[in-house]
Amino acid sequence: MPISLFGYDPKSRVEDSIGSACNFKHTFGGNADDFGIRYTDAPLPLHLVYRLDLSDPLIPLDLPNLSFLSLLYCFNYDSTCCYQVISDTEVRLITPGEQECFFPPWEAPEAFSLEKTSFSAKRYDPTRADDVMDWKGVYGWDELSEDQRKIALDLASERTFLTREDGPDDDWTYADVIRSMYHPPFSQSRPYHSCGNPDCNDDRLRVIALQHNVVSAELIWPGKHIQTIWEMCEGCQCIVASNQCG
Ligand SMILES: [Zn+2]
Repeated sequence: MPISLFGYDPKSRVEDSIGSACNFKHTFGGNADDFGIRYTDAPLPLHLVYRLDLSDPLIPLDLPNLSFLSLLYCFNYDSTCCYQVISDTEVRLITPGEQECFFPPWEAPEAFSLEKTSFSAKRYDPTRADDVMDWKGVYGWDELSEDQRKIALDLASERTFLTREDGPDDDWTYADVIRSMYHPPFSQSRPYHSCGNPDCNDDRLRVIALQHNVVSAELIWPGKHIQTIWEMCEGCQCIVASNQCG
């Protein structure tokens, strides 16, 4: 089950292949303690899902104060959490607070088995309808020409049961419905979380990573078809981790 990482300047996507090694120290799973990662303000530990080696030029994240970025998930808590990666070894949990804990989605193991992984670049052209309609929920479709927009709507009609009648008003066109209601690859909708950092006045969150293409050999949600999503606040670089049913 690969993870996609998304870049925005320019729009780009890389995908990993768990089990394959490379010259960089990317890992899936593993025990956070073994990497020296300490949690602040977290009554229960988060789960380490990925540890990204930011020296890899394929990783589309600009975080000059970090060498590694931990993608964590809150299996010991409710379904969404916000955390701040302060250094390579310190992570501060911002939400949920202690009183909101203890509704674990499943009895996850203490740590997922450690694997090497590596990334490769995947094509994404924001002017091509087929690329855009695979990832519209991440990047939108604003760069499509009029002709490509028509192809995009044809693709949508093949891939979704949405019709013009699904719009909230009679004057909605089919294009309005697809623009507002069709957000692949997200199975439910484009995530619209707020930054959980009370000291942050910014609220622009971008999806930076998505674990998707759920298969039966699911690694972190066994037997469940669930997408795991990481968004980053552009203002304070806090990360919001959430999930959607796949
Ligand atoms: Zn923020």
